[in-house]
Amino acid sequence: MELRKYQRLSFDVYFSPDVPTALVLDLQGHVQAVRVQLTQRLGVEDRTIPDLYVMGSLKAFGAAGATSGLRVTIESGFFAPGGNAPGIYLLANKPIPELKKTLTHEYTHLLVEEGAGTSLLPAWFNEGTATYYENVIGLTSSNPDVARNLDLLPL
Ligand SMILES: [Zn+2]
Repeated sequence: MELRKYQRLSFDVYFSPDVPTALVLDLQGHVQAVRVQLTQRLGVEDRTIPDLYVMGSLKAFGAAGATSGLRVTIESGFFAPGGNAPGIYLLANKPIPELKKTLTHEYTHLLVEEGAGTSLLPAWFNEGTATYYENVIGLTSSNPDVARNLDLLPL
């Protein structure tokens, strides 16, 4: 599979040709901001800076998952801690706020799994922490996604 590479800031981003470069830049800036926020909130830093892989189609996303030794089913993102190409993988088929939430979620998995080291964490803790910060960071971002989660009253 042919991918483009954008290298700047601290994260390298690989993306399929059908992913707009503007989206790549937006996601790269987001993960950098999340990194700063989570370092402050949790008091931990990542030991490895992950590469980001952004795929524009389900076919490319599935192929990337297979490269990482994972079977991708209904996820829109995943974190691959090892394999040939460790990093965070996103399927760019949703609105940008949703992609940012998924990116925050997967980056939190990286921090949690690095923090656990060789200890086995309960899946509920790992998943719950990632989901918690996906929402907290989403609400405190410059473009909070609040309206999507509220029931609006009829006028
Ligand atoms: Zn998760």
